[in-house]
Amino acid sequence: MKRDIRLAVLLLFVVCFSLALLTVWKVWSSRERALNEVNFHSLNLTQALDTYAEGIINQSSMLLLGLVERLEIDGSGPQQIERLRALVSNQQYLLSQLSGITIYNQAGDWLMSSNRPVKVGANSSDRAFFIHHRENPSREIFIGLPIRSRSTHEWVITVSRRFDHSDGRFAGVVAVTLGIENFLNVFGKLDLGQEGAIGLSYADGQLLVRYPFREQDMGRNFSTSPIYTRYLVDRSVGTASFASSLDGVERLYAFRKNEHLPLVTTVAMGKNEALATWRMEACLSAGVVLTLLFVIGGIGLRLIRDINRRAEAEAQLVIAREALLQTNERLELLASMDQLTGLANRRRFEEVLGTEVKRANRERTPLSLLLIDIDYFKLFNDTYGHVAGDEGLRVVSRVLQQCVKRPSDLAARYGGEELAVILPNTTEAGAVAVAERVLERLSHSNIAHRSSPYGRLTVSIGVAVMPVAQAQDAALALVEAADQALYEAKAEGRNRVAVYLALQQEQQPPGCQA
Ligand code: GH3
Ligand code: MG
Ligand code: MG
Repeated sequence: MKRDIRLAVLLLFVVCFSLALLTVWKVWSSRERALNEVNFHSLNLTQALDTYAEGIINQSSMLLLGLVERLEIDGSGPQQIERLRALVSNQQYLLSQLSGITIYNQAGDWLMSSNRPVKVGANSSDRAFFIHHRENPSREIFIGLPIRSRSTHEWVITVSRRFDHSDGRFAGVVAVTLGIENFLNVFGKLDLGQEGAIGLSYADGQLLVRYPFREQDMGRNFSTSPIYTRYLVDRSVGTASFASSLDGVERLYAFRKNEHLPLVTTVAMGKNEALATWRMEACLSAGVVLTLLFVIGGIGLRLIRDINRRAEAEAQLVIAREALLQTNERLELLASMDQLTGLANRRRFEEVLGTEVKRANRERTPLSLLLIDIDYFKLFNDTYGHVAGDEGLRVVSRVLQQCVKRPSDLAARYGGEELAVILPNTTEAGAVAVAERVLERLSHSNIAHRSSPYGRLTVSIGVAVMPVAQAQDAALALVEAADQALYEAKAEGRNRVAVYLALQQEQQPPGCQA
């Protein structure tokens, strides 16, 4: 039963533990899947936005290339500039992100602006893009940091090229301004949740555009962000997860460095938001599994308690049965024992004699019986009193017990001061030997009996041996024979053994032999 309880506890534990483990594993893997999915979509988005940004820059670059060529061939006189203004106003609508085109001479003075008439004295020689071209003979485009347009006052990114005189001297700059507002309009149409963000930066970490727009972010440098310090070091595309240095919100980032331009596109999603659906499902699963665990645990514990209770009841039953058996044994012993002598009582004697007679018949073995009577016991009582008489009876009983060796032998009190010994599987010689031993031992006890001619307590013993194949009433016959032999022993002077032999020779008349 204890093993059953252990097995039940083990089963309960294994079921609950497996269920909990399986749930944790499922919830964890679904979290990983949710994060992978977000990263996958964000990476796709960076690809689309990267292509978009590259397209705008390329278009701007081509437009600039055309204008630079014209300026270098036709010069930048008022007539040529006017012609270019007409050309630009024709082409400008083709590039919706384009806010304006401005032409500057070598001193930074405005020669033309596509947005408004040139103000007298307008000069941009202090702008970074202008300084770059003036100082740098490269004819490549330059993508400038966001600045506030002096004409429209909106935030713009400049894409610019220098144009030269025919002798290679710096002649001025043509700049395309791309309104950040236009980028924000496009980025804003993408659903990235409340905490999502899109960024377009220089490869060195300088921020160009960030959605959602925040004035304080403009011109910010992210070169210390993990994307630049850890990830973009050895790869150009990837995903990352960390807390933003701008607002401290933990986000999932996907980043992509353009293959041709020094631009990095970043798409970020709030981790909390990205995992919102997963969290809800996880809570639901956890709730269901917890309820299930609770139910299984409850039923299991109840079963275990029942098994335990049954085991305890069974153990108590076993103890009670043991106690009952012991009581029964004691009662049986008491019921079959003579109180005064401690020998078997008459009832037991008859039971055993009946059984042994049957056995002797069945196994064809001899069965002997001794009947012992204390000599002159009435006189002993009269001389020493009944208490001494009882003690004398007890001494004789002890002597008898000592003379009976085999476990199958039985010494009993037949009645009054008459005792009996059943000796199964014992021949006449064996029975006589036992009887003689009794006489001898008793003589050694030497219990004084001054009223007896022997001067001490003696007994007379009648021996009867039942031969094999006796009739049904053999027990009675055997007792009667032993009694007869005892009578003979008394008659012949007491303190002796007499044997009754008639039972062995049924055809012969009964006779006694001392
Ligand atoms: P004998 O057998 O030698 O012929 O003489 P006896 O005196 O023993 O004669 P009998 O068998 O007739 O007497 C038996 C006496 O044993 C009677 C009774 O006083 C005594 N007796 C029987 N049972 C007990 C007993 O339990 N305790 C005591 N003290 N005496 C008993
Ligand atoms: Mg008697
Ligand atoms: Mg007697």
